[in-house]
Amino acid sequence: MLLDLSQNEIEEYVVSLGFPKFRGGQVYDAIIQGKLLDETNLPRDLKSAMEEDYPHFEIVKKLVSKDGTIKYAFKMFDGEIIESVFMQYKYGNTLCVSTQVGCRMGCKFCASGLHGLKRNLSAGEILSQIVMANRDNGGNAKERKITNVVLMGSGEPLDNYDNVTKFFKLLEEKRGLLISQRNISLSTCGIVPNIKKLADDGFQVTLTISLHAPNDTIRKRTMPIANKYSMAEILDACKYYFNKTGRRVAIEYTLIKDVNDSEECAKELAEKLRGFSVHVNVIPLNYVKERDLKQPNSKDAYVFAGKLEKLGISATVRRTLGSDIGGACGQLRNSLMEGEV
Ligand code: SF4
Repeated sequence: MLLDLSQNEIEEYVVSLGFPKFRGGQVYDAIIQGKLLDETNLPRDLKSAMEEDYPHFEIVKKLVSKDGTIKYAFKMFDGEIIESVFMQYKYGNTLCVSTQVGCRMGCKFCASGLHGLKRNLSAGEILSQIVMANRDNGGNAKERKITNVVLMGSGEPLDNYDNVTKFFKLLEEKRGLLISQRNISLSTCGIVPNIKKLADDGFQVTLTISLHAPNDTIRKRTMPIANKYSMAEILDACKYYFNKTGRRVAIEYTLIKDVNDSEECAKELAEKLRGFSVHVNVIPLNYVKERDLKQPNSKDAYVFAGKLEKLGISATVRRTLGSDIGGACGQLRNSLMEGEV
């Protein structure tokens, strides 16, 4: 797929089809703006030569919230559906993208992993979500409507390392969407070797760890990955990342009633994170109908974050956006697969 290629590679591809190099630049511009092949002014013989390789952009569902949040379901070339969420903040617009179709990590509070992993997304397929959402919100390559990206949709980004890191490079293309790594946040459940690899390979994205527990015993109740990597190993990898990149690490803590919301949990978490440059985002659990976990009361997340703050750990409650268009990540895709939406 041409979206997997850099501008130079597209130029080489177009030359290999027997067309001049400058046409490659035009093809690149059209793709990055999310134009369909029929919408371009390219010569007809070039269009037919590219038909198989040119991306097929398709939004199959769009839910718009009262607060401006938009949930998209996009169709990939093989018919698989993935979802992204467009969110508006004071500092700019953020797109939360998926990195895999499904996920094999099996976290109990998450709808994305309910059907396991179908396949990895290619770098271009991850990029296509930004291209489509940018265009749908009136943006183009010069006037971008998306300034920040979070890898927090379906999939574990570090389980798809090569495609995800290639995607970072595609985003930095000069004539492309030009989103720097400092405006990208990667959320992982804690694939320790790849956290270190990310630092060793010189990437500069903001690392977010989905911790969701103050110790391994509680973590194992909701996150199977905890059987493979201990919290101590994960926190050690975070320190490694911080020391190599200078980037502060964020911790995600989904608050689940009667699982990880007690006073003792706050104390234990604060103890583990002390002396460590982190910020904790407390997120009230989103209801997932297939899972047997209880949502906390509306004020509980603020109480928990307040306790952490009192214990000297920087913490805030993540503002819930788009609550009127359906909660947890992965739910739109699942309901489309089940024919509910
Ligand atoms: S929370 Fe993330 S890692 Fe866990 S199952 Fe969901 S998508 Fe996968």
